[in-house]
Amino acid sequence: MPINEIAGCIGCNTCVETCPTDVIQMDHNRHRAYIAYPDDCQICHLCRLYCPVDAISITPEKSIPVVVSWR
Ligand code: SF4
Ligand code: SF4
Repeated sequence: MPINEIAGCIGCNTCVETCPTDVIQMDHNRHRAYIAYPDDCQICHLCRLYCPVDAISITPEKSIPVVVSWR
C-alpha cells in the first residue's frame, strides 16, 4: 500500500484537496483525514509534502518510474 498512514492529522483538508486521485477523504465527524482508496495512490508525495504537520507517511515499496533518456 503506497500511502501508509495518517497520524497526528489536524484536519486542515490540504491533502484532500491536493491528492489528484481522491485517495484521501475527510472524516467530517472526527475532523480527520483518512485513507479511503489506497489502491489509487500514485505515490506522487504531494499530500505528504503539503501536510503542515507531517502526518502522512508513504511506503517506499513502489516508486515513480524514473524517466530515462532514450538514445
Ligand atoms: S501520494 Fe499522491 S496519489 Fe498518493 S495519496 Fe498522496 S497525493 Fe494522493
Ligand atoms: S494535510 Fe495533514 S493535517 Fe491536513 S488534513 Fe491532510 S493529513 Fe491532516
